[in-house]
Amino acid sequence: MRGKLGRLFAIGVILIGLFLVLGRDWLADRAFQRALDTSVGVDQSAALPDGLHAYVCGSGSPMPDATRAGPCIAVLAGQQAFIFDAGSGSIRKLLRMGFPIPKAQAAFLTHLHSDHFDGLGELLLQAWVGGSRSAPLPVHGPQGTDQVVGGLMQAYQIDKGYRIAHHGAAIVRPEGFGGAAQIIDLPAGANSAVVHDRDGVRITAIRVDHAPISPALGYRIDYKGRSLAISGDTVFSASFNAAAKGVDVMFHEALNMEMVAALGAKLAERGRKDSAQIMTDIQNYHASPVDAARAAQTAGAKALVLYHLVPPVPVRLIERKFLGDAPAAFDGDLRLAEDGMMISLPAGGKSIDFSNAF
Ligand SMILES: [Zn+2]
Ligand SMILES: [Zn+2]
Repeated sequence: MRGKLGRLFAIGVILIGLFLVLGRDWLADRAFQRALDTSVGVDQSAALPDGLHAYVCGSGSPMPDATRAGPCIAVLAGQQAFIFDAGSGSIRKLLRMGFPIPKAQAAFLTHLHSDHFDGLGELLLQAWVGGSRSAPLPVHGPQGTDQVVGGLMQAYQIDKGYRIAHHGAAIVRPEGFGGAAQIIDLPAGANSAVVHDRDGVRITAIRVDHAPISPALGYRIDYKGRSLAISGDTVFSASFNAAAKGVDVMFHEALNMEMVAALGAKLAERGRKDSAQIMTDIQNYHASPVDAARAAQTAGAKALVLYHLVPPVPVRLIERKFLGDAPAAFDGDLRLAEDGMMISLPAGGKSIDFSNAF
């Protein structure tokens, strides 16, 4: 009996081995076909409930980070999609998340530090080619946004010619190339202004404090009773906290001063004096995790998601050190953003649903 079982076991192992060797290609074909069926040309957002959905396409900063792209938060509100900042590497993450690029209505820049727009060229290209646009993507931002958009379009002229010549003007429409800068000029004395109001989606630009960089903006997005606020780069800002009053989710930048100081000290010790000085300089125009927690508490936000994390937080073990006393300063749900994070706020509901698209 034992010998018989042994023989059966051996035959089973051989059959499985044969299947794995001979069936590898068949399995690979099946897996590829399945990926084609489930993802290519499929609007992943169609399955989402009506509401506000935030896509964390970039939770990092200018510092090199293996897992976090430069700052980028995209929002789907009903059938309208928007992208707030486009840091380096973020647009690939955004598309990987199933963001519906053909629904993109506009991009919004918080300010013109390059780490907030060094993926904008890629966004404009993807919106044009991947989004089959027949008009440039509006890019809203502070004074100087026209120079940034104009410069990128100049840089992409040669590429534009290649693509139209190769695919034809009926496929990549020349008139859909690039961006159309829309300058946001908050009147003196005003700390906020509505910059988009259509089909129930209202976007408010908010003056924040990133001095000496001025103007710098944050944004609030409202749709069917649900709301998000995005700080951009700022210190603890009374105007931002006031405009973000009662939001479901606040995205706030965060820089851990002690950790950045330690980075600076190490750089100085190793003779990198210029880089060490930069570590000192950047501390005065960013918010600490505790500042961000106080901001969310002041605004009465239900959840706080820290992004634009400086320095990088590569492993979970360091998260607690990064947060420091922040959890004690905020009563709501406090999280560190990570690329691929999605936050859904169904219309007519109260839930804040976190998931990860990767
Ligand atoms: Zn900045
Ligand atoms: Zn920044």
